[in-house]
Amino acid sequence: MRDASTTQKDRGMNSATLEDVLRIYGIENWGTGYFSINRDGHLAVHPANGDARVADVYELVRELIDKRKLTPPFVLRFPQILAAQLQRLCLAYESAAKQFEFTGGHFPVFPMKVNPRREVVEEFLREGRKQSVGVECGSKAELYASLSLEQPADSLLVCNGFKDETFLRLASLGVQAGKRVVIVVEKLNELKMALEVADETGALPWIGLRAKLYSKGSGKWASSGGESAKFGLTTSEILECVHLLQAAGKIDSLKLLHFHIGSQITDVKRVKNAMKEAARVYAKIRQMRVAVEYLDIGGGLGVDYDGSKTTFDGSVNYSVEEFANNVVYTIKTVCDDEQVPHPHLVTESGRVMTAYHTLFVTEIRDEIETFAEDIPTVAVDDDDPQVIFELKSQLDDISIKNYREYYHDALDQKDELHTQFNLGLVSLEDRAKGEVLFWEICAKASQFAHQAETDEPEFDELKRILATKYLCNFSVFRSAPDSWAINQLFPIMPIHRLNERPTDFATLVDVTCDSDGCIDRFVDLKDVKQVLELHKFDDQPYFVALFLTGAYQEVMGSHHNLFGHPTEAQVVIDTDGRYHITKLIAGSRIADMLSFAKYDKQQCLENFQRQIAVQVTAGRIDQARATEAVKQYELSANGSTYLE
Ligand SMILES: *Cc1c(COP(=O)(O)O)cnc(C)c1O
Repeated sequence: MRDASTTQKDRGMNSATLEDVLRIYGIENWGTGYFSINRDGHLAVHPANGDARVADVYELVRELIDKRKLTPPFVLRFPQILAAQLQRLCLAYESAAKQFEFTGGHFPVFPMKVNPRREVVEEFLREGRKQSVGVECGSKAELYASLSLEQPADSLLVCNGFKDETFLRLASLGVQAGKRVVIVVEKLNELKMALEVADETGALPWIGLRAKLYSKGSGKWASSGGESAKFGLTTSEILECVHLLQAAGKIDSLKLLHFHIGSQITDVKRVKNAMKEAARVYAKIRQMRVAVEYLDIGGGLGVDYDGSKTTFDGSVNYSVEEFANNVVYTIKTVCDDEQVPHPHLVTESGRVMTAYHTLFVTEIRDEIETFAEDIPTVAVDDDDPQVIFELKSQLDDISIKNYREYYHDALDQKDELHTQFNLGLVSLEDRAKGEVLFWEICAKASQFAHQAETDEPEFDELKRILATKYLCNFSVFRSAPDSWAINQLFPIMPIHRLNERPTDFATLVDVTCDSDGCIDRFVDLKDVKQVLELHKFDDQPYFVALFLTGAYQEVMGSHHNLFGHPTEAQVVIDTDGRYHITKLIAGSRIADMLSFAKYDKQQCLENFQRQIAVQVTAGRIDQARATEAVKQYELSANGSTYLE
């Protein structure tokens, strides 16, 4: 759907347009300074908050397509943004410690489940060498991977999650390799097993205890905390662990107390409450003459996906700095009150560390309209049924004064049209004519409602129904699974034409054959938008980006419909504004997805060949055709799974 102003194209960057475009997409609300619009109306990335480095994302995408001959979708990975986020986190805790005279250290660990990609984990370890950044893993595969990575000697390798004997043996291998491995005991039984394994190997990791707090987080993951949480030890189990370790003469191994009240905590009040409780538990254990030195506060530091700074699910009502201040201040106050030493703080922030560093870019391939605008209205003639006349005269007379009434009348007329059609009183041509007239009335009514700035729900709904569906070359299930699974909102906007006001309202549909493969909720400051403002699709390449997809999306995405991994480019930006593609990882080919689904490529080829041979024998195609068909089939396996 579009309004009349669409035709006049305003390519020049004027400041009123820029302000409008910034407001429409809200970049300044959710982008935390990493993204902007440049003079050409292109999206720009500033990987290191505040300095001169900047890159033009549209140019980058054009290079991938034109020079490197790659096809969208693309994952653009900016490791410098990971580094900037890590520095921001470390600085926040450092300043908080200074401000509140907190004497414990800060040992961040990167939780691998958020983004286990080697490039990501290695970047954290490299960037965080000075701050002794470590790793947190929650499974044997994550532990195996992290054992291969270089870590500073005093950094931690924290093992969370449920553990079996093999997990514990792997952990003890880490100890033997000189790593500071901490086994966080989730269940009493794990401690018993860990002691047994240590008796055998002579290598007992440090022990941590995960406490079940009474305090809960807030937002979608609130149930990770609280009494009925899946993880953690009750108070009596904690005491039992202490006794077990004392009896085994290993109480000195008990170094850490851990808790995690859930990801994306939306309300800073919950953080304070949880810290109060956790610090008390820590203090009481210390008072039992157990030298627990580390207090691991888990993750939960959220991302403001919609930029609204509220306790809405997709937002958070605090900044990284406020979160750190609250944590440090609360823990310090409790410790001083209980007269115990300040602990070293271990933080396991993953979401806020990684969300910003990838940009998912893809192309709009087509539009699917509710009604075809380019079919000209057929003239109404004398022998048309009454209902057509009525619709036609409504269309001619609708105005801002009567649009509500005329829209309601049109709804009645449309019902009447279909009733008469079912009775055999209206021809197929007349039905088509009536439907076109009806949708034209709807489009006008919607425009008038927009002009009148009404907020009546029926016109919001009409706007949504009339919205064009933009066919977007990606799979929601592969690249933004949380959008489908838990209605997570990701900011979305074009990466070019940003010096033009967008005039279409659209929703996005992906290329899977699944009706859930769509995005029809968009970030907004006050609400959730049901349609996104986009530029009129004019069959020229049009690229949009999904932002803040660096946390959880890459690893949780699935191969629904056998769509594979997008092509990935790792990009580093110079101070003189030049970008360098430091790594290119080709997207999945059809052949990769075949083997994922346990098809053997050779077997497929032979089977196809046999079917063609049958057709040749039957004389339905000739040999030359047959050979060519087999060759084409074989070659197709190298192609992309996405639209090319
Ligand atoms: C998931 C998880 C994290 C990461 O949480 P974020 O909210 O992404 O920072 C940290 N610790 C544990 C134990 C987790 O399960």
